Amino acid sequence: MSDALARLREMQAADLPVHGGRTLAYVYDSGLPDVDRIGREAVAAYAGSNGLDPTAFPSLLQMENDLVGFTADLLDAPGTAVGTVTSGGTESCLLAVQSARDSRPDVEHPRMVVPSTVHAAFLKAAHYFRVEAVVVPVGPDFRVDPAAMAAALDDDLHRTVLAVVSAPSYAHGVVDPVSEVAATAAERGLRCHVDACIGGWVLPYAARLGRPVPPWTFAVDGVTSISVDLHKYAYAPKGTSVLLHRTSEHRRPQYFAHADWPGYTMLNSTMQSTKSGGPLAGAWAVVRSLGDTGYELLSREVFEAVDRIVAGVADIAALRLVVPPDSTLLALATDATCDPFTVCDEMAARGWYVQPQMGHGGWPATIHLSVSAATNAHVDELLGALREAVAAAVAAGPVGVDPGVAAFIEALDPAILSEEDFDGLLVAAGLVGAGDRPGGLALPDRMAEVNAMLDLASPRMREALLVAFLDRLQRPNR
Ligand SMILES: *Cc1c(COP(=O)(O)O)cnc(C)c1O
Repeated sequence: MSDALARLREMQAADLPVHGGRTLAYVYDSGLPDVDRIGREAVAAYAGSNGLDPTAFPSLLQMENDLVGFTADLLDAPGTAVGTVTSGGTESCLLAVQSARDSRPDVEHPRMVVPSTVHAAFLKAAHYFRVEAVVVPVGPDFRVDPAAMAAALDDDLHRTVLAVVSAPSYAHGVVDPVSEVAATAAERGLRCHVDACIGGWVLPYAARLGRPVPPWTFAVDGVTSISVDLHKYAYAPKGTSVLLHRTSEHRRPQYFAHADWPGYTMLNSTMQSTKSGGPLAGAWAVVRSLGDTGYELLSREVFEAVDRIVAGVADIAALRLVVPPDSTLLALATDATCDPFTVCDEMAARGWYVQPQMGHGGWPATIHLSVSAATNAHVDELLGALREAVAAAVAAGPVGVDPGVAAFIEALDPAILSEEDFDGLLVAAGLVGAGDRPGGLALPDRMAEVNAMLDLASPRMREALLVAFLDRLQRPNR
């Protein structure tokens, strides 16, 4: 029996570390082992409880209402505000779109207007719910232009159900002009969602610490819903986010009820029906342990780390900050002497995970850092590693992609490719070794060549190639 746990630990050793502040995407580390332990124990204690029916598990309802209350206070929500704890940011965003769509049953072909930097979760919502996403390009400061948003809303106003802005955007870490967009939406009687999945728990503390934060909470008139993830900067175990609505009327379409079958009356506020009480209990325990003062202290740490990294990057010649961050996310670009993908590989070789971001909309590829409070204790090491990684990348020179291959990839139309074509392409791209068995694939240690090739491909082609890749990774072990 204990063999299973030993084997788990063995397998986990090959994963990215979730503690230590050296993984600068995917995980958020408070650096407080006691808080992590409390969160883990709460998850375990509630792993078998079912959030399907809060009357059967009243402690889950209590915890959800506590968390929503804490979040509402943090985000300046009015007394009318209500909310739901969801399984994560994507579910919060999906439900915001679904609620907006279903609040307008009169609209046959609904559309929503989003900035080009909006999180992919909104495009997923568009895909799942058949809501057309009208994408407005951001300006040179990576924030959406409110006039362009207004024009896009007005383009086909009677079909428009939602405007979305980010606080901040994931890729560049800047806050959209929420006040302007929300005012425009309100004038037209439209919903306006603020996606604060990643910034919602730190920006209020940033403001309290005296940092300049543009208004983005419910204090802004016209903001009708906000998503904020607990499993990011609330440092809770994975599996929780909060979706707040300004009023219960705004939330109403989010509920699904079905009594017209022989079983129990199905009554759901989220997409899941049976859902583990574990993540909710984990988040509740972490938020209760840290409390407002704990989060303020952690925010001091994380912003000190951000400022020190920003200052350190300014001293590395081949590296620059793409835009001054409003929050805890940094996008770094390289000059022509090296490429960002090699820098990522070199950082990985030094025990740091930083995330490559492909070029998009004419902007070059960048390196993403989600800074955690735990990173602050290691900023000198991080900057040392970054200096070395950049020097190694300069010495290696930009990654060359064979011009013939480049031209081929740039010209490919994924719609006309067969499964055999994809098999060949995955081998050519270096994502699959010629002899690999599906399901037994191992990623190459160095990803720069693969990333450089993907960077040349169109977004559609990247999607198709990576889906083909994932399909081959996800094969049963039998
Ligand atoms: C992380 C994130 C999401 C999606 O959240 P998941 O928890 O990954 O599902 C949505 N929006 C933004 C801005 C995010 O950073």
